[in-house]
Amino acid sequence: LLLDTQLSAEQSEYLTMLKNCTEALLTLVNDILDFSKIEAGKINLDAIEFKLPESLRDTLRPLSFRASEKGLELARSVPPGVPEYLIGDPGRLRQIILNVVGNAIKFTAKGKVAVQVDVDSQGEDHVLLHFAVRDTGIGIPPEKQQIIFDPFRQVDGSTTRRYGGTGLGLAISSQLVRLMGGRIWVESVLGQGSTFHFTARFGLGRY
Ligand code: ADP
Repeated sequence: LLLDTQLSAEQSEYLTMLKNCTEALLTLVNDILDFSKIEAGKINLDAIEFKLPESLRDTLRPLSFRASEKGLELARSVPPGVPEYLIGDPGRLRQIILNVVGNAIKFTAKGKVAVQVDVDSQGEDHVLLHFAVRDTGIGIPPEKQQIIFDPFRQVDGSTTRRYGGTGLGLAISSQLVRLMGGRIWVESVLGQGSTFHFTARFGLGRY
C-alpha cells in the first residue's frame, strides 16, 4: 500500500528493497518451518481429486513470467497417455515443481527449461508419474550431485556466492517426493545443463 503512494525515487527504491528482503525472509522462515515439520513426521498429504494439466499450467504460470524476463523459454509437455484426473496432494506437488523449475530458471542464463510428464507405471487404481525438468544452465559437478539433496547444502557454499537461496528446497522436495511414494535424482553435465527427475504416485480419479 505504501508503495502505491506518492514517493520520491529514493524512497521508492528503499521501500522496494525492504519488500524484497521481507519476501526473502518469509521464504526462509517458511522453508525452515516446512522442513522441521516434515522431519518431525507432522505432514499429512491430502488425497483430493485434481486435474493434472490445469494444475501444472497454473503452477508454471508465474514461473514462465520469470523465465521470459530472463529471455528463457519454458516449455511443458504432457502426452495424451498421462491420466488427467489424479488423486493426491496438488499443493505439495506444486511446491516440488516450483522448487525444481524455479532452480532450473535460476541456474540458467540462456536457452530453455522444459518440463515433461510421463507415465512410469500404472495399476488399476493408481499411477506412478515421472516428471523431468531439463535446463541448459550451469550444470552440477558429479561429486555434488548427491549432496544437493541434503538440507542446507549448495554447490557453491561460499558466502560470496552468486545465487541466493537457503539450500533447503531440494531437501524439502526429496522428503515430499518420498511421502508420495517416489524418488528424486539428477543427471547433469557441468556447463551444459541438468535434468532433475522425480517420480510420484497418485490415485486415479474419474475419467
Ligand atoms: P537453493 O536453491 O535455495 O540453494 P535447493 O535445495 O533448491 O536450494 O538447491 C540446492 C543447490 O543445488 C543449489 O544451491 C544449487 O547449487 C544446486 N542446484 C539446484 N538446482 C540446480 C540446477 N537446475 N542447476 C544447477 N544447480 C542447481
